[in-house]
Amino acid sequence: MAGSRRVEHLIVGAGTAGAAAARTLRAEGAEVLLVGRELDPPYHRPPITKGLLQGVETRESTFFDGLEDIELLTRTSVMALDTGARVATLQSKEEIEYGSALVATGAMVRRLNAEGAQLDGIHYLRALANAESLRRDAEQAERVVCVGGSYIGCEAAASLTAMGKRCTVVMLEAEPLERGFGARAGHWFRSLLESHGVEVVGEGSVEAFTGGERVEAVQLDDGRSLPADVVVVGVGVLPDVMLARKSGLELGDTGGVRCDAQLRTSAEGVYAAGDVCEYASPLHDGRHVRIEHEDHAERQGETAARNMLGAGAEHRTVPYFFSDLADWASLEYVGGGAEWDEEVVNGSPDDGRFSVWYLDRGRVRGVLDVNSHGDLDRGREAIEQGARLTRPDIVG
Ligand SMILES: Cc1cc2nc3c(=O)[nH]c(=O)nc-3n(C[C@H](O)[C@H](O)[C@H](O)COP(=O)(O)OP(=O)(O)OC[C@H]3O[C@@H](n4cnc5c(N)ncnc54)[C@H](O)[C@@H]3O)c2cc1C
Repeated sequence: MAGSRRVEHLIVGAGTAGAAAARTLRAEGAEVLLVGRELDPPYHRPPITKGLLQGVETRESTFFDGLEDIELLTRTSVMALDTGARVATLQSKEEIEYGSALVATGAMVRRLNAEGAQLDGIHYLRALANAESLRRDAEQAERVVCVGGSYIGCEAAASLTAMGKRCTVVMLEAEPLERGFGARAGHWFRSLLESHGVEVVGEGSVEAFTGGERVEAVQLDDGRSLPADVVVVGVGVLPDVMLARKSGLELGDTGGVRCDAQLRTSAEGVYAAGDVCEYASPLHDGRHVRIEHEDHAERQGETAARNMLGAGAEHRTVPYFFSDLADWASLEYVGGGAEWDEEVVNGSPDDGRFSVWYLDRGRVRGVLDVNSHGDLDRGREAIEQGARLTRPDIVG
């Protein structure tokens, strides 16, 4: 019969936020149990579309450091949290009594619900094994279609092009990366991709995948057909709230676990962090936002851990994001989840090094920095201070 035990701090989800929280708690000498349902110990996901896919990084090199003296259960799902009794039930039926718990269950890929979606050769990217299986499959392929113009689709297209494949990116938007960075920056990214031979198809909606057992083409709703030996789908993620919902935690407007600025959920002693966490962000005037970036998940894990130890701190770190398109361009961004009504470009897009400042009635909401133009720290400071700037303040 399954037994029961007690831990000071239970972390559900052994991903980025969970690992960062576990490390922070351990560093303070606290007792932690980190439970994750994946096969692997916590690892960095960004290499999945970059070095691991290209074969220049190994699986082991993606693993998190600093977890050696932390008790970790892999291949183990937490099935339920009784937040009143503070008891978690594992899939083994073992019960864990906890003092405080962190829900760091991340996100799941959004599946494209088109005809032919079950054909062989259609890939989604979330876990290490996905990169390995895409890499194996792509070895035999000539033509790859990446569905989705966000960073997953663009990064995968760049990596696969660098591996000698003929890639097409197809997306609903007019320009790649437009949703995050606007049409002007998006146009620059389109030119970059095209200059390396990637075909970019904007305003294209996938209607079906066709083929025999294996995919042979992607059909668009305007009748176009894009030949494909392999397809990569990157059309967003959904917060993984299965456990949270079952445990009665309040959910928010973006579908995540609703938290206050200290990352406390609606249940006493239960916190959330990372892709699943929708928090009242002081940097966004208290608006609830949910952000899907690695550094953000790590920083939130740390804040939640400190609060599990009683710090009572608000999460105020400016979200940071990075992306690489093969070795063609690197981009970094601070801010996030915000709207803007003005864009100010600093530097020279023609030379490939520039920044775009996103202002909302003059207030700096985000800064995109391409190829280390050098505006990131200034941008972060302006966002932290709630600064209102004009074009001359920015470009000097
Ligand atoms: C392919 C790819 C490339 C990326 N590239 C970048 C990048 O370049 N830059 C960037 O900033 N961000 C990038 N990201 C985003 C970044 O990796 C995520 O924002 C980050 O991993 C979120 O961390 P998390 O801890 O919230 O979730 P995850 O890292 O997804 O961890 C959640 C874990 O919880 C587990 N889990 C869920 N439910 C349970 C349960 N009930 N019991 C036990 N375990 C459970 C899941 O299996 C998972 O392992 C990328 C993401 C992907 C998928």
